[in-house]
Amino acid sequence: MSCPVAGLQVKARKGGKREMKRREEDIIRIENLEVFAYHGVYSWEREEGQRFYINAALYVETGKAVQEDLLELSVDYGAVCHFMSRFMNENPCNLIETAAERLAAAVLLAFSPVRGITLEIRKPDAPIGLPFESVSAEISRRWSTAYLAMGSSLGDREAHIRNAVEAMEEEPKIRVKKVSELIPTAPYGGAAREEFLNGAMEIETLFTPEQLLDCLHALEEAAGRVRKERWADRTLDLDILLYEDLILWTERLAIPHPDMINREFVLKPLAQIAPYVLHPVCREPVRALLERLSGR
Ligand code: ATP
Ligand code: MG
Ligand code: MG
Repeated sequence: MSCPVAGLQVKARKGGKREMKRREEDIIRIENLEVFAYHGVYSWEREEGQRFYINAALYVETGKAVQEDLLELSVDYGAVCHFMSRFMNENPCNLIETAAERLAAAVLLAFSPVRGITLEIRKPDAPIGLPFESVSAEISRRWSTAYLAMGSSLGDREAHIRNAVEAMEEEPKIRVKKVSELIPTAPYGGAAREEFLNGAMEIETLFTPEQLLDCLHALEEAAGRVRKERWADRTLDLDILLYEDLILWTERLAIPHPDMINREFVLKPLAQIAPYVLHPVCREPVRALLERLSGR
């Protein structure tokens, strides 16, 4: 049976709340940590400061740490509390939403066992002028696994791809986990004339899919890519194949990449690094998609 992706009819999960915690993760909660900080739009808030309260749920892969009862393998929640207190104090923002966003990213970058975080910042003394208990902002952020396709058919093809991988390794919000071999492939789609080198990579990222696309476009530009007709020869093409089990279809971004299941030059390198990863629409592992396409 063929997978109906080419003429995909799947609706984006609009506003659908995605589960933050993954199966293999446990939750460590920090409740009402009192900190002193300078967030706010009024000058007195920036000068005098006020108290804030933080509630945090840390999603942590604690399996090994719990079995062996070892703090080094888990997250030191005392250290997280001190880190959050210091970060809040030293990074004033106008909005508590911005403060929450920055603090969440900082915790996720600083404590590698923390895979995700739901963070609430409460401001009990906000200048509202009416009796109230507190006002708060809550956000959820996490490291997401994504798979990317890489392709090049112009110039020093290997160097274009290698430079992009290196640039991603230097980006704090991306962790490169696996990179496939690069395979030579015939041009696809009719417009290109040159032989391509194609590969795939697995990353973890704090970027949203849209932010990740911006980052990939910047890397394509850095490689001197000129966008002419579709599927023409290019110095560098970086596409998002999968992003967790997200199904998304907007004007700018379609995930899973709608044509990935029809492309051997995508599935072959992807199967090298992620044979058992499920395509969220087909509900089949990458290796099975490749075998079907190759007619085996
Ligand atoms: P194809 O996407 O069929 O492989 P291409 O990679 O040559 O073709 P580009 O010129 O690189 O196409 O990109 C055209 C536009 O496709 C981008 O500006 C981007 O907005 C959009 N796009 C949609 N979904 C994706 C995706 N999953 N990954 C990358 N770009 C995407
Ligand atoms: Mg492409
Ligand atoms: Mg592209």
